[in-house]
Amino acid sequence: MSEYLGIDVGGSSIKFSLMDDSGQPTGQPFSIAHSGHDSRGALEVGLHRALTEGTPSAVGIGSPGYLSVDRKHVLFAANLGWSNFPIVDFVSQIVGVPAFLDGDAQVAALAELRLGAARQAKSALYLSLGTGIGCSVIVGGKVLAGAHGMAGNAGHSPVARNLKTCACGKSGCWETVASAKALIDMSEKSPLDFYAACQQADADALVILDEWVEWLALGLTPLLGLLDPQRVIIGGAISEYSDLFVERLAVACSSHLLGADYVGVPEFVPAQCGAHAGVLGAALLAIDGMARSAK
Ligand SMILES: [Zn+2]
Repeated sequence: MSEYLGIDVGGSSIKFSLMDDSGQPTGQPFSIAHSGHDSRGALEVGLHRALTEGTPSAVGIGSPGYLSVDRKHVLFAANLGWSNFPIVDFVSQIVGVPAFLDGDAQVAALAELRLGAARQAKSALYLSLGTGIGCSVIVGGKVLAGAHGMAGNAGHSPVARNLKTCACGKSGCWETVASAKALIDMSEKSPLDFYAACQQADADALVILDEWVEWLALGLTPLLGLLDPQRVIIGGAISEYSDLFVERLAVACSSHLLGADYVGVPEFVPAQCGAHAGVLGAALLAIDGMARSAK
């Protein structure tokens, strides 16, 4: 039986998980924290640790940012400080096996498609709410790539003028006001304290939650109008708390989406692969990559 290593690069940590070829984890996933500028070092540390825990025959990587069409380089990742980083060569030289790259939201959507909340959906929109906003589109049993592999890349779409400057250097990006980080920054509390306050119906906390939901809906509504998905899957660590906001989000989207009075809005559901969707999907990417290479 072969073993595959999945890597999920995030804005504040990099997750690693080994998986067998039937899609089952073969060890305990682990993560290496970083603060952006040291993320390349964190990646290297994690790779060496993974090699002490297993013998992968291929590596799959899910990365944020803009990726080269040939899926070899991260051209630009704002939260990591990566610019034209040859990540596939970097990883495969350390591990000594082939490596495959795709967007972080794309690999997470692949996990939800094969193992999670998108299995029975004809179409779905996957949103990963974390340091930024990842987004990907599932249509006809596939994760949509687009002409440049950038389909669904909506986190840096402008939703208003004169908002604070985004990590990408522009102003008005959706993720500056609607990511999980934006919510926690607005609350000025730890995530656990803020979610506890919402669960206790604290009035101040719910005002902040509604403000954030409104920003989330403002960016999401055009995507719903464009794609008319059957299901919207909420991923990222915040999905554990999605019961706090999915109803509010459906109501907010209903108020903005023309036609919602007649046909409603999609189902809003939490990701089933949870916080591990990225690493599981990255390992699936490696399995698919090796299967294609063998043909
Ligand atoms: Zn931006």
